Amino acid sequence: MPYTDMTDVALQNALVTQQSRLQAFTQRELSLNMARGKPSSAQLDLSLALLDTLSSTSDYYAEDGTDCRNYGVLYGLPEARRLMATLLDDDPEHVLVGGNSSLSIMYDLLAEFWLFGTLGSAPWNTLPKVKWLCPVPGYDRHFAITESFGMEMIPVPLSDDGPDMDLVETLVSDDDTIKGIWCVPTYSNPSGITYSDDTVRRLAAMKCAAEDFRILWDNAYCVHHLFDETDTQEHVLDIARTCLQAGNPHRACKFASTSKITFPGAGIAAMAASEQVLAEVASHMGVRTIGYDKLNQLRHVRFLQDAHGIATHMSKHAALIRPKFELVWSMLENGLKDTDCTWTKPRGGYFILFQGPQGTAHRIVELAASAGVKLTAAGAPFPLGIDPNDAFIRLAPTLPTEDELKSALEVFICCAQIACIEAELAQRA
Ligand code: PMP
Repeated sequence: MPYTDMTDVALQNALVTQQSRLQAFTQRELSLNMARGKPSSAQLDLSLALLDTLSSTSDYYAEDGTDCRNYGVLYGLPEARRLMATLLDDDPEHVLVGGNSSLSIMYDLLAEFWLFGTLGSAPWNTLPKVKWLCPVPGYDRHFAITESFGMEMIPVPLSDDGPDMDLVETLVSDDDTIKGIWCVPTYSNPSGITYSDDTVRRLAAMKCAAEDFRILWDNAYCVHHLFDETDTQEHVLDIARTCLQAGNPHRACKFASTSKITFPGAGIAAMAASEQVLAEVASHMGVRTIGYDKLNQLRHVRFLQDAHGIATHMSKHAALIRPKFELVWSMLENGLKDTDCTWTKPRGGYFILFQGPQGTAHRIVELAASAGVKLTAAGAPFPLGIDPNDAFIRLAPTLPTEDELKSALEVFICCAQIACIEAELAQRA
């Protein structure tokens, strides 16, 4: 019976039952982690052959004859730019291959805007105020970057097809201190939604009071489909071409990496932008480095080869992680049917976004931690960690084994039930 229909006494009894179950879980001294979107070691094994593509006896030469052991080639090897262009849905000439992290390219880009401005605009640090649009729920590490520069972050609700565009258009049209927006267009972190073509067109064409308004288009999950059927796989209209057609050629900066394709932290990352913005980025980059790791670029090209190679490889990831998502969905469905909790069922990406009744997220995370299950901090998907309803929890099912995931979910469901009953009782008091 739904908790909302139960008598106070029945609810109290249900609470006692769940509390003693939690007690029993606590005695098992579990140590489980559903906090971060990391691949499992079985997923990492899929890329071990990447390490064999270069040994002391193989050749180290790129297709243009570059000796990859040596300095140079700031924009990246031509074949690596071609490979990353397939992820970025752009022309290789618009692509720059950086180091091991797309997040660090995003950070550096904003640091450059902050210190030097862009395409002749005033450095942002000289302005009295800089604001940034943050679709929520969103990615905590994006928000940490804009927070670190002291930008005022404006939360914008994210719905099933992207940010609330009526609100975005209104905000950017007459406030020139709003300098940009974070976007994760495909299988968004953490809600799993994918932007509609209409959203892309509106972002590209909207009138912005700030001439140097930038869309940071983070396509971290562009090939991370959970299901095979190609007709249901998400493919988002390209923001750069759409911006160009709308007369805003410099608005979009796109990012991707192989972090969740090969090895997180040991992959390759890239950005795409207009020729002028890319040249500006390269000019700053060239002060910072003589060039990135071309041996790793070569390894990635030899291992992944092209878009088809990436798709084949990603279907192996999907075969490993899809059962984990399905396990979470079926356990939540069975375990929480008496509550008002909801959760997402994304077609790709790395997360399930759980929503409990108002005021329960912190409590669930705290209870789970007491029983040895680490979850993403409540509030993490919001700027400054503040979820106004204290309702959302990001679940990351990829890292644990299926057995571990099952144990973690049993604890999670028990904690969610306790928090829901407590919230219902508090409401009645
Ligand atoms: N962007 C998003 C949306 C992510 O979810 C992640 C990883 N969790 C990253 C970027 C990090 O990417 P990288 O390893 O290339 O820095």
